[in-house]
Amino acid sequence: MARTIWILGDQLTHRHSALAKADRDADVVLFIESRKRGAHIRYHQRKLVLIYSAMRHFARELREAGWTVDYHHLAETEDFAEGWKRHLTRFQPDEVWMMEPNSLPEQKAAETIVRRIERPLRTFPSCQFLVGRDEFAEFAAGKKRLLMENHYRAARKRFRILVDEAGEPEGGAWNYDAENRKTLTDWQREGAAKPPRQNSHPPDPVTRDVIRDVGSFFPKAPGRAEGFALAVTREQALEDLRGFVRERLARFGDYQDLMLAESPGMFHSWVSASINIGLLDPMECIDAAVNAYWERGAPLSAVEGFVRQILGWREFINGVYWLKMPEYGESNALSAERPLPDFFYTAETDLNCLRCTIGEVRETAYNHHIQRLMVLGNFLLLAGVRPQEALRWFLEMYIDAFDWVMAANVLGMALHADGGFMATKPYAGSGAYIDRMSNYCKGCRYDPKKKSGEGACPFNLLYWAFYDRHAKRFGANPRTAVMIKSWQKRTESDRETILREAGEFLDSHVPLAP
Ligand code: SF4
Repeated sequence: MARTIWILGDQLTHRHSALAKADRDADVVLFIESRKRGAHIRYHQRKLVLIYSAMRHFARELREAGWTVDYHHLAETEDFAEGWKRHLTRFQPDEVWMMEPNSLPEQKAAETIVRRIERPLRTFPSCQFLVGRDEFAEFAAGKKRLLMENHYRAARKRFRILVDEAGEPEGGAWNYDAENRKTLTDWQREGAAKPPRQNSHPPDPVTRDVIRDVGSFFPKAPGRAEGFALAVTREQALEDLRGFVRERLARFGDYQDLMLAESPGMFHSWVSASINIGLLDPMECIDAAVNAYWERGAPLSAVEGFVRQILGWREFINGVYWLKMPEYGESNALSAERPLPDFFYTAETDLNCLRCTIGEVRETAYNHHIQRLMVLGNFLLLAGVRPQEALRWFLEMYIDAFDWVMAANVLGMALHADGGFMATKPYAGSGAYIDRMSNYCKGCRYDPKKKSGEGACPFNLLYWAFYDRHAKRFGANPRTAVMIKSWQKRTESDRETILREAGEFLDSHVPLAP
């Protein structure tokens, strides 16, 4: 029986579960670069280059390993259907095999096409996650609200990561977040040196071809492809992982929430994109950090923080996605109705924190988690921007963003659009938080300490306007009731001034659609 193994652009792993069962001598591996898929939304140029270059490199590795590969390039392929049509003129598979797609749009597209070509489709469980979709559904069964912490502790015990024989956490605590929140003042007091630069992988001829293709076929894509130096092969991704463990892991914990305008990514690993497209296995990343703790004395708080990102957040977010989608994608519990402002694409804004973070993502297609959550997400939450527009932007701009990873991160975590299904309170912060955790405020025309009046930080105005708008909902929440009380204790004229200035700011910076 002849089979086609169809590999998608975020499944570039040699552990691919369909490939593992296939017959190297008889089966054909299919890759399709679809221009329509690439233009579906306005993806950042570097993200397009990353995916297509990694696909081409992976296909080459498979050929070198003896597989028959049928590869359809952007130049000749309008969409998946066209790629398949051409594939069927050369090969006549009896069956199509896939690893289960990581996101729903790809799953639907694959099912539709395979139905159209009248071949049976067999899917194999994903090897890119540690917790299966059914297992997560079991964990979630009967719960009204899901807490990442509960999932994380169960996963630590199950995979025996940093736990002792009795299942108790190494060091006596499950969570070292309190040690992982050093501020700008701590940084200055320690006279800390700049973080080492990220690894750089200059483009080879394959990547240079892709950069040309992306320029020709996606001329309106935001960002810049020039300067692209991301890992596009497993070997390069492993170099990045080793570099992170060797040079940045030790400081990653302390300063994982700090944001410095001159140091994009700080001590973060930048391996998320490599994990999400299959170049790295999540467990090998966890093992690399945990081994550094056991063998080289890396700080437990840093190692636990890194493990939490992968075994905790990554698996949890994927579980929520498959549990709640597609309805979750339409969530808008706070009735946020403002359109995404244009400056999210241009970085032309007078709020320095937004200018720096958006400028950074335009340049690199990357921000670290606190920039995403507490600067950009926080602003979109407080300003009341439509969750689906915000979600689209995150999907477009970040190298590691895919539907499965962004839906719950943006709608649930950042925008509270799911009404608190996965976060007990909104991640809303005033200018004081950004001032404490970054050096953005130093170069800003606004004053983070000013609550109203000329030069008051817009985050301060929007913060209180947000709680005023949602006083009923958050007054009933024990974790936010204190904020509502403190707002209501202010004088009426104080409140009126703040609400008026917040309204004026929104009308000028985030206007409602005409
Ligand atoms: Fe952002 Fe306010 Fe600080 Fe300016 S003062 S950088 S707007 S937090």
